[in-house]
Amino acid sequence: MRSSFHPRLINDPFADPGLFIPVSYERRALIFDLGELSNLSARDLLKVSHVFVTHTHMDHFIGFDTLLRLLLGRDKEIHIFGPSSFMEKVEAKLSAYTWNLVENYENNLSIHVIEIHRERAFEQRFESRNQFEASAKPQEHAFEGNLVSEQSFSIDAVLLDHKVDCIALALKENYSVNIVKEGLKELQLPVGPWLSEFKRAIYAQCDPDKPFRVFWKKRGEETVERYIRFGELKERIARISPGQKITYITDIIGSPENIAKAVDLASQSHHLFIEAAFLDKDREMARKKYHLTAREAGLIAAMAGVKEVCVFHFSPR
Ligand SMILES: [Zn+2]
Ligand SMILES: [Zn+2]
Repeated sequence: MRSSFHPRLINDPFADPGLFIPVSYERRALIFDLGELSNLSARDLLKVSHVFVTHTHMDHFIGFDTLLRLLLGRDKEIHIFGPSSFMEKVEAKLSAYTWNLVENYENNLSIHVIEIHRERAFEQRFESRNQFEASAKPQEHAFEGNLVSEQSFSIDAVLLDHKVDCIALALKENYSVNIVKEGLKELQLPVGPWLSEFKRAIYAQCDPDKPFRVFWKKRGEETVERYIRFGELKERIARISPGQKITYITDIIGSPENIAKAVDLASQSHHLFIEAAFLDKDREMARKKYHLTAREAGLIAAMAGVKEVCVFHFSPR
């Protein structure tokens, strides 16, 4: 069954870590970690709505500037999550540049920064029209493990030990909606952008008795419209199945506490992306650098019962 989320590592496993997750039924994507981003096109990066920075070691955060530069001058709202002291790191990045002309731009870039602590989270907004001065005081929320909760998916997080707090992430798709080709054929409906709206309507649990607008347009012709009862359309062309779980864990020491929390977070994932920075024979080095060994990564995957494992963030050793 195809999921709506198609995660892929941004770089090869020896280069900067990072996961790009486009959402197929929306022009939208998520990013876990902001390392080197030059392998992503501007088109990919412009889709990003939520960014999660596991911690601010350079290889996980240097891409912030690339993203900022691309988004500047556009009407865009973006959410960026990070661990303790993340707010001041983002502020430091923003204050490194001169913004005397951006307030004259017609468009506004709004950056919501969310800093995660053990039980609390702080949120602040930085906008280009205010020269990226912080909005008033940070808002404080309780944090109980969930960072994002939308109709179609949620993202949970846990703070692990990398000698600094490091965020591990799990994306859970509530359920997956697939389109049945034969159903489309029977109803003589073409594929097109209306299917994205149809999927959105399923996630929004729209009224089954309401008519749903199906529309398409051939080149040089008028737009064709048909209205079909939403419940009927759903029955004929949608197949709904359990969603996927995608977990991302990197830059943690292989301590018993970290391993227990990582296993818990990754439990029953369809995809686990996990660092395997060092080989087992270099485990002393791994301890010293607060990283996992390949053996520990494999152990976490096995104990969590994950279906597919992808290892990355290899040390050049
Ligand atoms: Zn790293
Ligand atoms: Zn690190």
